[in-house]
Amino acid sequence: MKVGMIGLGAMGEGMAINLAEAGFLAGVYNRTFSKAEKFRKEFGVDVFNSPSELAASVDVVLICVSADEDVLEIVTRISGSIKPGSVVVDMSTVSSKTAEQAASLLAKKQVDFLDAPVSGGVEGAKNGTLAMMVGGNQQALEKIKPVLEAISSRIMYMGATGSGQGTKAVNQIMAAGINQAVTEALAFAEAQSLPLEKVIEVISGGAASNWFLEHRGQTMTQGTFAPGFKLALHHKDLKICQTMAKQNDSAIPLAEQTIENYAQLMKKGFGDEDISALYRLKHP
Ligand code: NAP
Repeated sequence: MKVGMIGLGAMGEGMAINLAEAGFLAGVYNRTFSKAEKFRKEFGVDVFNSPSELAASVDVVLICVSADEDVLEIVTRISGSIKPGSVVVDMSTVSSKTAEQAASLLAKKQVDFLDAPVSGGVEGAKNGTLAMMVGGNQQALEKIKPVLEAISSRIMYMGATGSGQGTKAVNQIMAAGINQAVTEALAFAEAQSLPLEKVIEVISGGAASNWFLEHRGQTMTQGTFAPGFKLALHHKDLKICQTMAKQNDSAIPLAEQTIENYAQLMKKGFGDEDISALYRLKHP
C-alpha cells in the first residue's frame, strides 16, 4: 500500500516520520515546500508539487491541514486525479458537515473518505501514540488499519461519516474545561507562593492528574508557551462545537468562556501560542 501525506505541520510532520519509518510513506506534499524537502533527503520519498500529483500516484491519501476550508480545498484538488478504490483519511479537526461534504465529493470517484481526527498532541504525533476516532466505511478502515497503526495506538471506529469529528468535538470541549481548571488552579498555587514544580509533581500522582498538567504544567508556570497546540486552532474547534451545541440544545458554558478568553488572547497577538497561554489571563 503506497501512502501519501498532505500537511506537514506540527502534527503532520511527526505522523509522516512514523509512516516513513514503518515503510509506508511513498510521498508528501506541503504548501510550504521547504518543510517537505527534508523527507526527500532523510527518507528518500517523493516530494510532490501539488496534492493532485500526489493523489494520482498513491493508494492512501492522508490529510492533516488546519481548518474546514483547507480540507475542502485539498479534497477538491485531489478529486480530479485520484484513482478509484483509493482511501482518503482526514486527520484534521473540522466539522462533521465538512466530513460529509468531502465524503460525498469523493464517493463520485469511487473513493472512500474516513474522518479520523486525533488526540494526543505533538508528543502523540511524534511517538505514534495518538488516539484516533474514525467515521465512514468500516471496511475501508479495516483495509488500511496497518497504515494507521503506525500513527496511532488507539483506533476506534465510531460509526457513519462525521462521527469521528463528532467525537473529536467532545474531546475539544473536555480539553477546554481541563485548560480552564489547570491554568486557574496553578495561578492559585502561584498566588500562595507554593513551590510550583512540586505542586505539579505531587498532583500528577493523584486523582486530579491529567495529560495537560503533566505535559504543559511546568512550561506554562515558567511563562513558556511554544506550541504544542496553537490556541487559534482550539478556538476554531470550539466555534465548531458552539454551532453543534446550538443545534443539539446542549449547554457548554466552559467552552463558551474559553472561546471568549482565546479571542482576547488572539487580539493581543498570542494566537500562535500553545493553548496553555490561557495562563496569561489567570493572573490578577
Ligand atoms: P499547523 O502546525 O498550523 O500545520 C498546519 C498544516 O496545514 C501545515 O502543513 C500547513 O501548510 C497546512 N495547510 C493549512 N492550510 C492549507 C491549505 N489551504 N492548503 C494546503 N496546506 C494547508 O497545525 P497542526 O497543529 O499540525 O494542526 C493540524 C490539524 O490537526 C488541525 O486541524 C488541528 O486542529 C489538528 N490537531 C492539532 C493538535 C495539536 O496538538 N497541534 C492535536 C490534535 C489535532 P504550511 O506549512 O504551508 O503552513
